[in-house]
Amino acid sequence: MLNYSLTQLGAALRAKKISSVELTQLYLDRIAAHNPVLNAYLTVDAKTSLTQAAAADALLAQGRALPLTGIPIAQKDIFCAKGWRTTCGSKMLSDFIAPYDAHVVEQFNKAGAINLGKTNMDEFAMGSSNETSYFGPVKNPWNHNAVPGGSSGGAASAVAARLCAAATGTDTGGSIRQPAALCGITGIKPTYGTVSRYGMIAFASSLDQAGPMAKSAEDCALMLNVMAGFDERDSTSLLREKEDYTRDLNRPLQGLRIGLPREFFAEGLSNDVAGRVQDAIAEYKKLGAVVIDISLPNSNLAVPVYYVLAPAEASSNLSRFDGVRYGYRAPEYTDLADMYEKSRAQGFGEEVKRRIMIGTYVLSHGYYDAYYLQAQKIRRLIAQDFTDAFKQCDVIMGPTSPSTAFNLGDKGDDPVQMYLSDIYTIAVNLAGLPGMSIPCGFGDPGANGPAMPAGLQIIGNYFDEARMLNAAHQYQLATDWHSKQPNGI
Ligand code: GLN
Repeated sequence: MLNYSLTQLGAALRAKKISSVELTQLYLDRIAAHNPVLNAYLTVDAKTSLTQAAAADALLAQGRALPLTGIPIAQKDIFCAKGWRTTCGSKMLSDFIAPYDAHVVEQFNKAGAINLGKTNMDEFAMGSSNETSYFGPVKNPWNHNAVPGGSSGGAASAVAARLCAAATGTDTGGSIRQPAALCGITGIKPTYGTVSRYGMIAFASSLDQAGPMAKSAEDCALMLNVMAGFDERDSTSLLREKEDYTRDLNRPLQGLRIGLPREFFAEGLSNDVAGRVQDAIAEYKKLGAVVIDISLPNSNLAVPVYYVLAPAEASSNLSRFDGVRYGYRAPEYTDLADMYEKSRAQGFGEEVKRRIMIGTYVLSHGYYDAYYLQAQKIRRLIAQDFTDAFKQCDVIMGPTSPSTAFNLGDKGDDPVQMYLSDIYTIAVNLAGLPGMSIPCGFGDPGANGPAMPAGLQIIGNYFDEARMLNAAHQYQLATDWHSKQPNGI
């Protein structure tokens, strides 16, 4: 049952082959067994989850179940969930109990899904390896010496290790797609504005977007059906008609035009990942797709632009953590200013402080024009590159990450190396486009580690999630990389 799709789980629940309480208990037992090693969950509250499961069983008994009713889902610890500790991976919020539900959490509650727990993440979603979490790193279930990716590393590890049926993540510069690639699962970052950011702790508001992480594209489509939708409490939430993201899953791919940006296959991409991506493209050709050579000429500027804009927004968003209303307060201080300073100095980790300092700097008088404004202009050019490319193709494909999972500690001392792990994902956030990652095979085995999963990135045009999911699902019907699972799990 651990490898069942969400549709199969729903059917098993409706057919009374298993109850939601039993299914929830099954995952809770797995978490108890594996989480001490993986550290994928920060908070588990068996009683609350089982109470929700009992309520779901009542709905199932009455024949009032929706597609995800009774199915246990893990929530990234960036989403406020009423009554649940919500830390965002930070000491700053280590004791924070959320007084309300994020829109995403509310949507899953309405769907009758079970909140199985809160997953570990990089502090305030800043990172690509889950190593900046105040609560310690997450292990990659394929190799415990390797990182799971970040910032949604706990979610990716939990899905890959079958410690939940599916999970939520957020993606500001790659935080759904990159960990999905490194853990061998499927994850989608929707078009900006598709999923409400209400109750999702803000990192860089113009880039942050929530999305699902699951075993397959089909499962992601069902999850997105629950997560997407207008919410007036988020001013960037889009007022659009509700879509069924599963509607095109079964369309044949004959004639699909795949754009391959030459900039994505240049220096910096490891040979093994390049090979697996080329294998995947060959499979798409067999399925009837045609390949078109495209160019995204400004894509080399995406990382520098992001590391001006994201810290700028973060420095503003994180100013609310001042030790006054909620969050960590230093135990000793002399006056108000000293309390702010000590609380922030002690409550935030190194990477968060680095971003706040950079952000404050690029927004300061005299540097605003030179950095922030310039970065905004280049952001526009990056988005324009995609608009031009989509005149020639239906989807864009390439690697998700330049390499397979690296080892814990390998990049911890070198922020720039860490930042480069998102070189293929960041431009998508800057443009506000949808993107996803699907498993496409395994890289070369390391000197003393097993072969690790590689991810294929699929980028769609605005609001074209259904087509991306279609492309992903057809590939997953033709191959079985998405159903591989780590040893000993
Ligand atoms: N790794 C990138 C960063 O550190 C992106 C993180 C994210 O998408 N939340 O900012």
